[in-house]
Amino acid sequence: MSAEEIRPDSLEKALAALREAIGEEHVLVDDRTLADYGTATFHTDHVIPAVLRPGSVEEVQQILRIANEYKLPIYPISTGLNTGYGSTVPAKSDCAVMELKRLDAIVEYNAKLGYVRVQPGVTQEMLFNFLQRENAPYWMDATGASPKHSMIGNIAERGFGHTPYGDHFAHIAGFQVVLPQGDVIRTGFGQFDNARATEVYRWGVGPHYDGLFTQSNLGVIVEATIWLMPKPEYMQFFACSVGRDEDLSLLIEAMRPLRLDGTINSAMHIGNDYKVISAIQSYPYAQAGDKTPLPQEVLAAKSKEWDCGPWNATGALYGTRAEVSAARKRLKKALKGKVQRLQFLDEKLLWVAEKVAKPYQWVTGLNLTEMMKMLKTVFGMTRGEPSADMLPSNYWRKRSLPDVSADLSPEKDNCGVLWIAPVAPTSGENAETIWHIVRDTMLRHGYEPAVSITLLTERTIDCVVNVSYDRDIEGEDERAMACHDDMLRQFCEVGFYPYRLGIQTVGKMPPRTPEYERFITGIRDQLDPNRILAPGRYLD
Ligand SMILES: Cc1cc2nc3c(=O)[nH]c(=O)nc-3n(C[C@H](O)[C@H](O)[C@H](O)COP(=O)(O)OP(=O)(O)OC[C@H]3O[C@@H](n4cnc5c(N)ncnc54)[C@H](O)[C@@H]3O)c2cc1C
Repeated sequence: MSAEEIRPDSLEKALAALREAIGEEHVLVDDRTLADYGTATFHTDHVIPAVLRPGSVEEVQQILRIANEYKLPIYPISTGLNTGYGSTVPAKSDCAVMELKRLDAIVEYNAKLGYVRVQPGVTQEMLFNFLQRENAPYWMDATGASPKHSMIGNIAERGFGHTPYGDHFAHIAGFQVVLPQGDVIRTGFGQFDNARATEVYRWGVGPHYDGLFTQSNLGVIVEATIWLMPKPEYMQFFACSVGRDEDLSLLIEAMRPLRLDGTINSAMHIGNDYKVISAIQSYPYAQAGDKTPLPQEVLAAKSKEWDCGPWNATGALYGTRAEVSAARKRLKKALKGKVQRLQFLDEKLLWVAEKVAKPYQWVTGLNLTEMMKMLKTVFGMTRGEPSADMLPSNYWRKRSLPDVSADLSPEKDNCGVLWIAPVAPTSGENAETIWHIVRDTMLRHGYEPAVSITLLTERTIDCVVNVSYDRDIEGEDERAMACHDDMLRQFCEVGFYPYRLGIQTVGKMPPRTPEYERFITGIRDQLDPNRILAPGRYLD
């Protein structure tokens, strides 16, 4: 059943039933709201007939039952801050957006076993503040995106952060899910009403299927159990860089055994010069003589100003003081002669560095104050502190920056952002292959090849690439999308598929195997015969 089959009279009837079910004030159909929810950081012309804001699990169930009755497709979002992947915009036109922000309870905090059960409206900031208030001996893991984004929204996309708990889906133990026709289930041991280990033993018994509800349209996650990381006795942040572009391979090869044997036991990030510069400042139009992409001499000048190399690695070591000291020795030995400026930083040193930043700047001319700001943000993220400091990077190509103290909205401010994040087995050769595709394609299309490479798991690298542009410039939407599509095609051709998909990829991914299609369509037919839930989102 497709969205086109909704006749106007049934839409009106559906809206009337929805108003009855969740209250008139939570069924929004005014032009302003629909335009806002229909705006991503790239062109889309998807029509949204309504925005629905349920306030309870029962209301989510009612919405889905009404949607089935009137064949009204529903697109669930948690906080809708999926910037660069579609934001609040559904994968296909004519879907009502169901925003779950009002379900914002931290349902349970278990101080003994270190977990929380949260609803989709619980944001990074809310959980962080809660743990602070409770004086919890635990850290959450935070992403570099907004403090206001949902914990569940990110888990639903299998996003990642910076600590040893950085692979978010790997640190949950079960969901409560509303199925497309309105039934509610708990996964894992939650299949038994009286099970007592549901929150601590993720596999339950029998088929394990939590993954079916991430990156899919097979259910609406209304609760997740998130495991928290016990605060380590000691953490030491480290940073280093390589002096030549072609040393990327060397750096990855040096880090690979350390990530594999657990010397480095957290997601570790490597950003190139373009990435570092665009995180600190906006496009230097004056220095570049208004030319884009960034001229090489300006890139070189900026790299000098911000003291970064072509590739810059940051990460952290966690454990007891003795464990960190041993890991530090192994790290130093493995990187000896291969990297420049290997520096270690802990809380005390950070404090001292902040104090000397100003005088150091007067003496050396290096803008250490600004560099400290960024360093502090990244340092904070390695211990699970959410930050809004990365948000201005969405404005890289904009000529004017909004007041950064205000709540930034890249969508409303016409920022162009398109992310692609291919995954590869960890090797220098693979990193180089991806980097060469990114560099050659983006420069050819006229954009800065800003890239970060994360040693996300013990065995994989995840490269996050961002096409950043100004939507106010005529033709840029089309040009940027052509660049995105060109890269996506090449990544898929060499076998490095993205770890998640934005709505901009609908209809652009290569065909999956017929066996997979049969398997997944069978499940979908069973759960959602009317194709009510998020048509086009990962599955057609
Ligand atoms: C500057 C910047 C930095 C970023 N850094 C990171 C980073 O470090 N790590 C990272 O992972 N991402 C990052 N992102 C990407 C993105 O902003 C985050 O992943 C963010 O968490 C997604 O937004 P959200 O949590 O509001 O999810 P939402 O937008 O609410 O949801 C995302 C998608 O998940 C599905 N979904 C959401 N909720 C549910 C539900 N309850 N049930 C079923 N399906 C659901 C929907 O398909 C929805 O479109 C970054 C983005 C920017 C712009």
